[in-house]
Amino acid sequence: MRRLFPALFCSLVFSSVAAAAPGAVHCAHLLDVRSGEIRTDQTIVFAADGTITNVGPAKSAVIPPNATAIEVAGTCLPGLIDMHTHVTFDPQDSGYAGLGISVPREAITGVKNARRTLYAGFTTIRNVGASGFTDVALRDAINDGDVEGPRMLVSGPPLGITGGHCDDNLLPYEYHHVAEGVADGPWAARAKVRETIKYGADLIKICASGGVLSKGDLPGTPQYTLEEMIAIAEEAHKLGRKVAAHAHGTQSIKDAIRAGIDTIEHSSLIDDEGIALAKEHGTYLVFDIYNDDFILQEGAKAGMLPESIEKEKKIGRLQRENFRHAFQSGAKIAFGTDSGVYPHGDNAKQFAKMVEWGMQPIDAIRAATLSAALALGWSGKVGTLEPGAYADIIAVQGKSPLADVTVLQSVSFVMKGGAVVRNDQAAAQK
Ligand SMILES: [Zn+2]
Repeated sequence: MRRLFPALFCSLVFSSVAAAAPGAVHCAHLLDVRSGEIRTDQTIVFAADGTITNVGPAKSAVIPPNATAIEVAGTCLPGLIDMHTHVTFDPQDSGYAGLGISVPREAITGVKNARRTLYAGFTTIRNVGASGFTDVALRDAINDGDVEGPRMLVSGPPLGITGGHCDDNLLPYEYHHVAEGVADGPWAARAKVRETIKYGADLIKICASGGVLSKGDLPGTPQYTLEEMIAIAEEAHKLGRKVAAHAHGTQSIKDAIRAGIDTIEHSSLIDDEGIALAKEHGTYLVFDIYNDDFILQEGAKAGMLPESIEKEKKIGRLQRENFRHAFQSGAKIAFGTDSGVYPHGDNAKQFAKMVEWGMQPIDAIRAATLSAALALGWSGKVGTLEPGAYADIIAVQGKSPLADVTVLQSVSFVMKGGAVVRNDQAAAQK
């Protein structure tokens, strides 16, 4: 639902910053997201490269020499994945205020929010839209260990039509201002895909339909044509990148799926035919169903345009109803929140919305672990605690997350690649 941001990219390499020494985590309880079972007294052992070598009962665990298992109370589960973030933007950057924010300043905002997101238990994110390739710089700085943050796949500037959701339409004609990702026509769009990948994008983000936080367009109306989206998908796939399409509108969702786009963002006005097409093509749907509450309650204060608030009023509830219908119809759903529309670090608030609108807690957790990993193309590496996966582990206290998903809003332990990021229990013991 964001205004357009230029650029998102992802490196196809994983972070080089990891444990550096073998180690182990002893969990009082552990949620196996695959089976949906909670096991007690489990130990996760990891190697010096930060990947898991064994998971099983503590009594039979072989702890690496010179290592002591880190004791974690509560329930362990894999680090969470958010498929739709904008870490270089804050809610108050909406509307005209955003025009005063430089690219270097945006990069620094990203440093702040990457850390917040990681500390909230999200150890992997897919960032779908940033200006000036700030997301590429942030991803690389995290991978180099210069700043703290989740594993990132990034898109660089999102591609879109002139005057569309991924253009910037706030200034009058005499400023001749065009957003970085604007490309009209199949060949211009192909060239933009190539350029975006040249500067470091891990995936391509496009705007298939209008949006909520942009000026002068409507979420339901198509923007990129089927012909343009076929060209984009073909070019990106040829170069080994997936494509995420912002699509609220009924027709745009179907066109994007038919074009071979990999994930549909927002999916707000999807109909039965669109759901059937998504199932047929194996397309993942990403419904950002938490941020509606924030936009309606806080959006005006944050500087969002009055027309944006009006658009959200019309589309928010429909999106939630269609989320429930798509899930109950068996469509593939991955967890994505559009963070940046609401404050970063609150990403886990969406779990309760997903349960309120038809999912069981394990379904919502799988959307943010196993399913998101599949949608990213990182299955087996993230979103699971199994041999070969990164030791990206979080823990929550109190009730089981299967009994109350809101416990995911306050994680007490975060490990990324075998390195402890936060351990509130240890702090309390000191
Ligand atoms: Zn977005």
